[in-house]
Amino acid sequence: MLVLVINSGSSSLKYSVRLMDADNPDGGGRRIAGGVVERIGEDEVADHTQAFGVASRELQDALGGQALDAVGHRVVHGGERFTGPVLIDNEITRSIERLNPLAPLHNPPSVLCLRAAVQQWPRVPQVAVFDTAFHRTLPEPAWRYALPDGLYRRYGIRRYGFHGTSVEYVGRRAAALLNVPWEKFDGVVAHLGNGASVTAIQGGRSVDTSMGFTPLEGLVMGTRSGDVDPGILIFLLREGYGADELDSMLNRNSGFKALAGHNDMRAITEAAAGGDEQAGLALEIAAHRLARYIGGYHVACGGARAVVLTGGIGENSAAFRARVLAKLAPLGISLDTAANEAAAGLDEGRTISGPGSAIPVLVVPTDEEAAVADATAAVVLQS
Ligand code: ADP
Repeated sequence: MLVLVINSGSSSLKYSVRLMDADNPDGGGRRIAGGVVERIGEDEVADHTQAFGVASRELQDALGGQALDAVGHRVVHGGERFTGPVLIDNEITRSIERLNPLAPLHNPPSVLCLRAAVQQWPRVPQVAVFDTAFHRTLPEPAWRYALPDGLYRRYGIRRYGFHGTSVEYVGRRAAALLNVPWEKFDGVVAHLGNGASVTAIQGGRSVDTSMGFTPLEGLVMGTRSGDVDPGILIFLLREGYGADELDSMLNRNSGFKALAGHNDMRAITEAAAGGDEQAGLALEIAAHRLARYIGGYHVACGGARAVVLTGGIGENSAAFRARVLAKLAPLGISLDTAANEAAAGLDEGRTISGPGSAIPVLVVPTDEEAAVADATAAVVLQS
């Protein structure tokens, strides 16, 4: 089975073709082709429809006449309706489109790519895989804000959570590494990339997560603030700030970029190691917040049996992991310095906590495209 995975970001479109029958213990088949179209919205590629055109021409060359069996689309927002991956038809596409206001940067590009792909391959089954779906099991005390109910009823204002595809993928792999059936897995998974979130998992289900109505809530991120007192926004509105200014401040000019001057973890840890106090403070603020979330989610999941780190930072930044684990000592967690500093390899996951650690801490590489490919193949085989 040949599956095309389309992952459209706000200004990029990544695609990969996977041969699903190929033996791969990590799932996701074998990647046989792929590419990325970047800087969408600038001169050469005006929008995602055009980007899709570029990608599909590249694909035709790469496929050399082989036919696709399915297309899987990563979609950021599935609202309250989508609890898992679905086969796309016109009604489903319209329903995803209606969620555009909830994810204005991410959903509209997905909808454009969905329509373009259906037009290009009208007879190939296509599947939407949602970042929010894994979090549809959040209990109401975790998803409801303490706000007037009308906001929820009128606008759907509640916590949705994101990164679900990645979190479920690494959670399942961690459970397998620990020899725990997924349905019995209780743990905390932190996806730490440019965007970052933590999720509490109980019995293989998401029971709390740090991103909320939008992917802005929670941790300190590359350019996003994460949690702030909403009173700050009211104050700034009264000072004359506009909605667009607040949007770009919170989403693009905050987080590590605001605290350390740049949003790349490598540069920040190098600067901190070289004595840059701003960089050191930025790392402390981010580690403090993450450790606080992990402690809270240890409670939320009824006692974590594992802490799992993933994403570009979680997988690669030994320095940041060490800072976070040092703060988790009250949970009985300890670090194995050598294991933590061992170079990330082509590993299926490894333990970085010490032998006496009360809770094992694992680093498990994520692969969202493999997860989307697996979900797509499963939906198509069932239909
Ligand atoms: P995205 O959320 O855009 O998919 P990634 O998961 O690729 O992002 O994570 C990007 C982050 O990972 C950046 O902060 C980057 O600096 C960090 N990162 C990637 N490789 C390393 C590394 N070798 N050491 C430290 N940080 C790294």
